[in-house]
Amino acid sequence: MNPTTLLLERLSALVHQSVRDDAARHGLQPIHVQVLSYLARANDYSNLPIAVAEYFGITRGTVSQSLNVLERKGLLLREADPHHGKRIHLTLTAAAAKVLEQAWSRRIDTVLESMPREREALESALRGLLTGLQGLNGQRAFGVCRQCAHFLTEGDAARCGLTGQPLGAAQTMKICREWTDPIETCAMKRE
Ligand code: SF4
Repeated sequence: MNPTTLLLERLSALVHQSVRDDAARHGLQPIHVQVLSYLARANDYSNLPIAVAEYFGITRGTVSQSLNVLERKGLLLREADPHHGKRIHLTLTAAAAKVLEQAWSRRIDTVLESMPREREALESALRGLLTGLQGLNGQRAFGVCRQCAHFLTEGDAARCGLTGQPLGAAQTMKICREWTDPIETCAMKRE
C-alpha cells in the first residue's frame, strides 16, 4: 500500500473515532453529528434533504430519519423556501451550534493552524485527491463557492453565474452541491 494511502486510512479511522465520541457525548449517532457539521457549512442551494443524501451517499429514507431525530432534539429547523413551493431548507439552532463547538473538526483546525506553511499545499493536494475519487465514484464535488467555475464578482458584490442570483458574503464561503471545478472547466474549453 502506498504510504499516503496508509496515512489517509489512519486519519480516516481517527476522524471516525472522534465523530463517534462527539456523538456519544450528546446522545446522538455519528451520522447526526456529521449532518449537523455538513449543514453548518452548506449554502442555500445545499441545505436541502436531497443534498444531505448526495453528500453522504445515503438514501433519502436514512436522511429523513436522521432529520426527524435532530428536529425532535431541537437541533434543526425546517423552513419552506419562499420562492420554490415544496423546497425545504434545513437550518441549525443555537443548540446545534453548541454541539459543534467542540466537534472533531475544531481539533483538526487547531493542528492545521500550527502548520501555516504546509497548509496551502496540503489543501490543494487533498482537493485533487478528493475530486479524483469523487469522479471515479460519480459523486458531486461539493466545493467552496468562492472556488467555483461559476463564481462571479462585480465590484464588491458576488453572483452565481449558474443561477444568476446574488451571493451574500457568508454564502460565498460555504460549500455547494452545484460546485464546478474551474480547472476542469478551463480544460474542457481548451479541447
Ligand atoms: S457559484 Fe458555484 S458554488 Fe457558488 S452558488 Fe453558484 S454554483 Fe454554487
